[in-house]
Amino acid sequence: MAYLRQPEYVQYSCSCGSLKSISKIYFCRHCLSIRCGFCVCHEVDSYYCPNCLENLPTSEVRLKKNKCSNCFDCPCCLQTLSIRLGQSFSVSSQSKSEEESKPTTKKVYYLSCSLCRWSSRDAGIPDQTVATGSWKEQENPYSNRVNALINYYKILASFEKQQKERKKFHIKRSFLQFEKFGITSAMARKRSGRPPLTQAQNQTVTTPTPSVAEENVDESLSDLFTKSIDITRTTTIDQRLQHPELQADTIDKLRPQKKQFIIKRSQRCRTCEHNVSKPDYCSTSTKFKIQLAAYYHLPEVRIVTYEPLQFGKSSELLLKLSNPTQHQMQITFLSLETPVITTTKVQGVVEEINKERIQMGCDSPNLLPSAIRQTAVIEEVKPIIVVPNGEILLPNSSFTLPPKDEAAEYDELNVPQNFQDDPKVVVWRNSNKSVIRLHVLPDVTKSSGDMPETVIVGFVMQFSYINTIATLEHKTPQKLDLRVKLYLTLDNSSKIARTASMLK
Ligand SMILES: [Zn+2]
Ligand SMILES: [Zn+2]
Ligand SMILES: [Zn+2]
Ligand SMILES: [Zn+2]
Repeated sequence: MAYLRQPEYVQYSCSCGSLKSISKIYFCRHCLSIRCGFCVCHEVDSYYCPNCLENLPTSEVRLKKNKCSNCFDCPCCLQTLSIRLGQSFSVSSQSKSEEESKPTTKKVYYLSCSLCRWSSRDAGIPDQTVATGSWKEQENPYSNRVNALINYYKILASFEKQQKERKKFHIKRSFLQFEKFGITSAMARKRSGRPPLTQAQNQTVTTPTPSVAEENVDESLSDLFTKSIDITRTTTIDQRLQHPELQADTIDKLRPQKKQFIIKRSQRCRTCEHNVSKPDYCSTSTKFKIQLAAYYHLPEVRIVTYEPLQFGKSSELLLKLSNPTQHQMQITFLSLETPVITTTKVQGVVEEINKERIQMGCDSPNLLPSAIRQTAVIEEVKPIIVVPNGEILLPNSSFTLPPKDEAAEYDELNVPQNFQDDPKVVVWRNSNKSVIRLHVLPDVTKSSGDMPETVIVGFVMQFSYINTIATLEHKTPQKLDLRVKLYLTLDNSSKIARTASMLK
């Protein structure tokens, strides 16, 4: 797994034109193409607190300003604060006359950071008698002004939106009133009993009083240039930005901050609108309902080792390929110029999906009704900016990668597979993995001179893929030949020990 976090030596070209490592891309099983973070729709599924894992609906999250009411962050080191139990001694006034003062103990709670030892007691925040719910967050002294401005801009925004909608309605009135999927916004308003948009013109917007610059500067700032700064007492930029409303300048003014909610999000393919990744709603679960990471569908390519690169001389390059699927794969290497998405079979599948969507009225359980779903913006394919400065000599023959077998690793009587391999190409085989030998020629036009630090080579890998998704026309799994463009970065300067241990 550590390999996946390394610099991107092997990059796969996404269908949008960006280059990513296999751990950062998805494979849409419906349109049979690679999707990356740039070419999917990101949708927020749920909000939850990373500490107590409390899961809240969107409306409530907005009310709570995206913050958990029970958990606090340390204002110093930004770690989660823990609630500690303490005791407070109080001497009751009545008991004084009877006996010698007998203190009574009371349970109190305070916040403490186990990492930097900051505590609410040091900051002068009084202890609380209940563990949760009573901690107050510091009030923003300018909250009234901020709220007035927010309200003003909200009204302006809705005013602009209404004007835009009215324009849209005027244009469409002479044509079709009904859109392809549903009714126009004006009709929807009429049906739901809301007033027509023409009344919006009568709304008046009260402008808040603008801020005025002042000549008089706060007295306390007079020694700003003369007093020496105690850097240990001054807050850092991170600490200030943790609470942007107040931005305390000295450490003693820091107050604990409520923990921010984090989100679970799902990714949707923009072309076919199926999910490529969908997490489980439950905040305590780390599982996915749908996870179409490319790592589970495309053959993974790793660089095992290569000879030092020299001009005018071909160097040996060993690549390790593994098949993550449950089906046998046939792999062929093609030159970089080979077109990637022109397989007629693939095009047929895409057409089929479109046909299916129209026939089923988008009622697939994976799809939201078209009225709710945001309209996907499909961007144009970007050209790949990487320019290879080397050539790779590819074998003409193709070779087979057996399916992944989870038990094979533990099978001591591992029977060697009988494949008619070209020994010049296939160097090693084990279960679903194999190492193949290729040759690299750095910049063919040069014969001498300084070698560039990195040599980039590229090729197209064709692999057979079994599409198990049943469509209207194809109820049985289909065998398809898919292609993916790969770029390898060979670092000539690094002295990384590339040992045979990677073969294991
Ligand atoms: Zn992409
Ligand atoms: Zn919490
Ligand atoms: Zn701390
Ligand atoms: Zn898709």
